[in-house]
Amino acid sequence: MGSRIYFDHSATTPLDPRVFVLMEPYLLDDFGNPSSLHREGRKAREAVETARAQVAALFGAAPSEIVFTGSGTEADNLAILGSIRAGTGSAHIVTSSIEHAGVLEPCRFLERFGVKVDYLPVDSYGLVDPENLRRALRPETRLVSIMAANNVVGTLQPIAELARIAKQHGALFHTDAVQAAGKMRLDVNELPADLISLSAHKLHGPKGVGALYVRDGVELNPIVLGGGQERGLRSATENVAGIVGFGAAAALAREEMEEEARDLVRLREYLLARLRATMPHAYLIGHPVKRLPGHLCLGFAGQEGEVLQLLTALDEAGVAVSSGSACSAHHAGAPSEILLAMGFDSQRAKGSLRVTLGRFSTESEVNRFLEILPRALAAPGLAAARDDSPRNVELSVAQARN
Ligand code: PLP
Repeated sequence: MGSRIYFDHSATTPLDPRVFVLMEPYLLDDFGNPSSLHREGRKAREAVETARAQVAALFGAAPSEIVFTGSGTEADNLAILGSIRAGTGSAHIVTSSIEHAGVLEPCRFLERFGVKVDYLPVDSYGLVDPENLRRALRPETRLVSIMAANNVVGTLQPIAELARIAKQHGALFHTDAVQAAGKMRLDVNELPADLISLSAHKLHGPKGVGALYVRDGVELNPIVLGGGQERGLRSATENVAGIVGFGAAAALAREEMEEEARDLVRLREYLLARLRATMPHAYLIGHPVKRLPGHLCLGFAGQEGEVLQLLTALDEAGVAVSSGSACSAHHAGAPSEILLAMGFDSQRAKGSLRVTLGRFSTESEVNRFLEILPRALAAPGLAAARDDSPRNVELSVAQARN
């Protein structure tokens, strides 16, 4: 027995108690509106500006380049809709086929108004080939949007190279770094990105607050119009406590990221090694090395179709993990578009188990998980495991290559 094991940090992370204590005053005593001129308002304004500097410092940006939004999704929408609306004439976007819905949906929306969009394919690891980007660029390409890290399979894209190609061509480069921020070093002085989306709740901050980095000089049109807050790019009274929490979470991430990432990689590799030793039909999905530190996406040969029963059995046994992304939980049972794009057949594409570790995950939790998992896989209703999977062969090839 014991407390529950939360291994779904790519869906959301628990608020760090050190963040919570800094937010609390702004929910109670210091409740002013940052646009008010009185003392209460000035105090709130000061808190928002401190947080802006903290978020900017996470990737070497200037505070004036940070626009707070209501979520990572909104940051993605502002980057895509805002940059296309700011231009004139025909527009072309290049993105990938495995982006988050926060990127894909605004692209599809723009297609209805005549904007051309190319969705780049990915390989079996979920990687975009920079040569494919080069080939897709056209004279009218205004924006390239490729995520830094994929939420479902954990694969890291070669964004520095992709950004350089986009910039050489004269296009804007946006990256959805919602999963990557706070887990790997991103520095706008080295990475030539124009727009970067972030979300506080993926780095032990609160839900309902995000940010868009907008490189100095990049023109955007707002998508939320009103009182002109956030330099006119995102009208609405600021979520002061949320923004304070985002700033505090970013400051902690900046300080602790390197050590935390090292610990998470160690724990991830330990889990994977134990799985391989004890469960030969388990296989890793996504890139073995170019992946988020605490992220594992697993398949179980012969049992891919039963992932929902597996999730239920694990949940009942005290373990929270997910299949694919939380945002697509309502499409449960359908094959994952991302795995299909990676070349999986529709049966195998149903079957991923996403196990994502976080700041407070421990080795003893991993050990308990390793005891619970085989029992959950053997639960009545789940097909017998097979270990004759062709993916296993692919996996060993992948390992040999790296
Ligand atoms: N982009 C990626 C890659 C994500 O994983 C998520 C959340 O799952 C988002 C965007 C959306 O962020 P938010 O939940 O803040 O809207």
